[in-house]
Amino acid sequence: MKIITTISEMYDHSDRLREQGDRIGFVPTMGFLHEGHLSLMRKAREENHALIVSIFINPTQFGPDEDYDSYPKDLESDASLCREVGCDVLFTPGADEMYPQGTLTTVSVAGLTETLCGASRPGHFDGVTTVVSKLFNIVRPHMVYFGLKDYQQYRVISRMVQDLNMNIRVIGLPTVREEDGLAMSSRNAHLYNDERAGALTLSRSLDAAREMIREGIRDPRAIEKKVAGIIESESTNRIDYVSVVNADDLTPLSSIERRALLAMAVFLGDTRLIDNTVLEISGD
Ligand code: AMP
Repeated sequence: MKIITTISEMYDHSDRLREQGDRIGFVPTMGFLHEGHLSLMRKAREENHALIVSIFINPTQFGPDEDYDSYPKDLESDASLCREVGCDVLFTPGADEMYPQGTLTTVSVAGLTETLCGASRPGHFDGVTTVVSKLFNIVRPHMVYFGLKDYQQYRVISRMVQDLNMNIRVIGLPTVREEDGLAMSSRNAHLYNDERAGALTLSRSLDAAREMIREGIRDPRAIEKKVAGIIESESTNRIDYVSVVNADDLTPLSSIERRALLAMAVFLGDTRLIDNTVLEISGD
């Protein structure tokens, strides 16, 4: 596995791959890799001639009071996990390499970014779409792999690729969870014991919501209320948002007709976790 840190070397490498007709699969990450990341990498490995993974903790997607400085890092362990999965290139540019003169250009997706995490993290998605565009231009992948754990991010990036005719296939893959249901996240490393216990209410509340759908409940507010109650039953937890929205355009819903997204963000102490599920009404 090659480790590349400069944009010029990454361009040259991708040029060579494309010249020899290789299909490039790409998994962008912020590192501190876990099974969630590895599931994307394994799928990309299967479906492409070359697998490129990036690790870049992008400063422009963090707000001033967020955890950019304390975001967990372990490049050595990440590199050996990438090797094990059969990654061809690990691209790890520094912030100076990616933003040598800041940036005057922003890629911004309207609408889809105005709700959920977009509402509580102003500027976050502009940071994401701008850096992902840069990474796509540098790596020039054919296929890119994103986790549905970040459902809104997946929708936003899919729409950006479509609107800007990027000629890239965006694949969304299911959330990988710990055995007890907690969605894997690099940020889980920051949880203290009591917070780790409190964090279980997130996946438990998703189960409860799915159960309500099975019981025939279609009122988004009733589901939000039940879910919020479960999360707030633990004193470690502070809700940022709990919302049931249209699963396609993320707009508010007054009744669940077919497919809805239940999404949440919850603070456990200083650590903010997100989780979601798609609530589907079966046709029978
Ligand atoms: P991050 O390093 O958190 O920016 O995540 C990089 C990619 O991994 C994104 O596409 C995430 O959606 C995906 N990802 C993170 N956690 C999980 C998980 N538990 N299951 C599946 N994909 C995940």
